[in-house]
Amino acid sequence: MRAPLLVLTLAACSRPSTPTGAAPEPTPAASPAPAGDDVLETSAGRVQIHPVHHGTVYFTIGDKVVWVDPWSKADLTGPKADLVLVTDIHQDHFDAAAIASVRKDDALVIAPAVVAEKFAGAVVLANGEARDLGFVRVEAVPMYNLVRGPEEGKLFHDKGRGNGYVLTFGERRVYLSGDTECTPEMKALRDIDVAFVCMNLPYTMTPAEAAECVAAFKPKVLYPYHYRDSKLDELDAGLAGSGVEVRRRDWY
Ligand code: ZN
Repeated sequence: MRAPLLVLTLAACSRPSTPTGAAPEPTPAASPAPAGDDVLETSAGRVQIHPVHHGTVYFTIGDKVVWVDPWSKADLTGPKADLVLVTDIHQDHFDAAAIASVRKDDALVIAPAVVAEKFAGAVVLANGEARDLGFVRVEAVPMYNLVRGPEEGKLFHDKGRGNGYVLTFGERRVYLSGDTECTPEMKALRDIDVAFVCMNLPYTMTPAEAAECVAAFKPKVLYPYHYRDSKLDELDAGLAGSGVEVRRRDWY
């Protein structure tokens, strides 16, 4: 029975043959995942990254689950959240029904004050504040418009209202931009392993602006998100030679 199976395997994979009778190579439990997979190996365990839709993404580490900006337009099936992070008040980020559908009963919801006013029980983090939950440390960072707004003298996102987040799992750092333009605070980020950076007009920024910002703080990996019909080729062009690995995923 063994020989036909071996032949089939070889035919399917075109791998070099192993000497007959050789023991299969052991697969270590914590073997590194291939580059390009949606994983982040950390000293606290493997973080699995799940891009979902627009600004919605979730992470799993061990039996812990973190959802970010769950939105009813996204497919919200998946493991239930121990932690829900909300970045801002706009409906594609703060959706009470979506939070209810992804959370465990005892989940912690972390949000800026403007959201917590409308969502009982949310824990408020202001820009610059942090909370350590053991399996993850959550730091709120600024997200805001520099110039773009609905009318002269107004901005879509005022500084201090919403939160981007830096999540620390073990020694690894994941940045989620929220809705923002290329702020000095984003450019000044350091030691980011994985970044989720928004783009789309008129609310945030162009792919070229996002590329300029990302090139300044040089995450190891970039997931463009919240981009709708933005031209991601412009992002790639702006990051050519930067050393940043851009991971396009099927967000829409
Ligand atoms: Zn948005």
